[in-house]
Amino acid sequence: MKHLRVGPITQIAMALALMACMLVLVASALLKVFGGGDDADERTRARRALADSIALYGAGLVQRGEVDALQTLLRDVVAREPRIESIVLRRASGGIVAQAGDAARAARPGGAADEAPDEADRGERIKVPLFAAKVHWGDLELAYRDARTGPLPGWLGDPTVTTALFVFIAGSLGFGLFMRRVLQHLDPAAAVPERVRVAFDTLVEGITILDGEGRIVLTNQAFRSLRADVDIRDGMALSSLSWHLVDPESDPLHPWARAMNASQIVTSVGMRVGEGDEARDVLVTCSPIRDGRGEVRGCLVSFADVTEVGRANTRLRGALSELERSRAEIEAKNLALQRAATRDPLTDCLNRRAFAEMGEPLLARALGPQGRPAAALLLDIDYFKSVNDRFGHAVGDRVIRTVAATLREEMRPGDLVARHGGEEFAVLMPDCAAGDAEVVADRVRRRIVERCLEHLSDLPALQVTVSVGVSDSTLGAPTLDGLLDQADTALYRAKRSGRNRVRVHDPAAAEAVAARTGADHTVGEI
Ligand code: GH3
Ligand code: MG
Ligand code: MG
Repeated sequence: MKHLRVGPITQIAMALALMACMLVLVASALLKVFGGGDDADERTRARRALADSIALYGAGLVQRGEVDALQTLLRDVVAREPRIESIVLRRASGGIVAQAGDAARAARPGGAADEAPDEADRGERIKVPLFAAKVHWGDLELAYRDARTGPLPGWLGDPTVTTALFVFIAGSLGFGLFMRRVLQHLDPAAAVPERVRVAFDTLVEGITILDGEGRIVLTNQAFRSLRADVDIRDGMALSSLSWHLVDPESDPLHPWARAMNASQIVTSVGMRVGEGDEARDVLVTCSPIRDGRGEVRGCLVSFADVTEVGRANTRLRGALSELERSRAEIEAKNLALQRAATRDPLTDCLNRRAFAEMGEPLLARALGPQGRPAAALLLDIDYFKSVNDRFGHAVGDRVIRTVAATLREEMRPGDLVARHGGEEFAVLMPDCAAGDAEVVADRVRRRIVERCLEHLSDLPALQVTVSVGVSDSTLGAPTLDGLLDQADTALYRAKRSGRNRVRVHDPAAAEAVAARTGADHTVGEI
């Protein structure tokens, strides 16, 4: 069954009309109480007086035997007074002496009490008893046609009821029209044309217009769908919709209240509305609405739903941190790989290949027109074979590691330190001439002796010394290999001179060495 909707305006109009009816009825009742009777009583008295007169006059005619004159009298009375339905002069025995009007009704004996209730309701009946020598001789019966007879129920004929009905119907219509017009001025929502509402609904952003108290005056579909679980009605406070600030540090006052208080636009405040899975993240922008005098009358609030953007951002951030983690992992592995490829595993010094790759450009720069000299050292542990032989290979490894660590400690950060062979180390020192390199080499030599004594104090019989050969880029070697060869020749001389010492490349001395030993001197390799 289709549900009949009665709008609030119609309801209020009907209620007002009903109140007016009640007033009419109450006023009528009061008039009856204080007015001392009504027209009906007056009318009944007049009718009874008429009946008395006819009875008196008729009785005289009967006594004189002028029944025809009586008959004429009754007909004349009925003809003159259309409200009279019938007049009957009836003997006490029941016989009719004379009659006029509705014959059937007139023929029926008795008064209102003898008639059926509906008949009795139809009209007034007056009965005047006639006496002859104090004996009841007969009655004059006067039957009136009731003015209210017709198809409608009798109570409807009552003027009070008719007035009340009129007031109700006319009042409902009148009040309805009046309120419709007045409410257009009082209710701003009703003043918004339908096409504006429809246009608002097509907007993707949620929009709501508030009055000066922060109550909702107008919303669009996008706004209502932010809280689909709540019946958002015009007139409710926007703040009642469970809002949370995304940034807990920001101003706790709702942005629309701030906008209206300061009469300033508040833009892009991150808020969350609703609870649990239904919660939506929005960016709220509030523009105060001012009247002609510049006073704030309300606020236009827009809501950009960024829930999906936020979720996508969270996913993206997760993917980015995952990417960052795996990138760091790869970098660490690359670094480890690179280290493994360029370093000697026992000493962590550069291996020969890395030393060559890094050292050649350095030497090329040193040999260039603006270049400053670069020095090379070749360092060899003395009698190392006998260390292995006397103390074992593991102790030999410890000695190699201690020598390498000391060498790295003593060198500058820009120097290249490599394990050049089994117990032999090469060093390239940029921006350093042979003389300075010799000083450094001698310091390193002495330091190695000390460190080995400290580190291998568990082996008091073990004494470690090294011999060092030095050369630099100013001494004629065109390549790194050539420079190392010069250092090697100097190292050879250091060995031959008694070991545990440093020798700088000397071309003349080198020639003498070459002449004595031939070209059979070789350098151990890894
Ligand atoms: P010199 O004073 O003339 O240099 O005599 P040396 O004994 O030190 O020289 P030699 O070339 O005769 O011996 C080098 C020894 O170093 C031979 C080899 O067994 C040993 N050696 C090479 N690499 C390693 C290594 O990684 N660990 C150990 N423990 N010994 C090694
Ligand atoms: Mg050697
Ligand atoms: Mg040696």
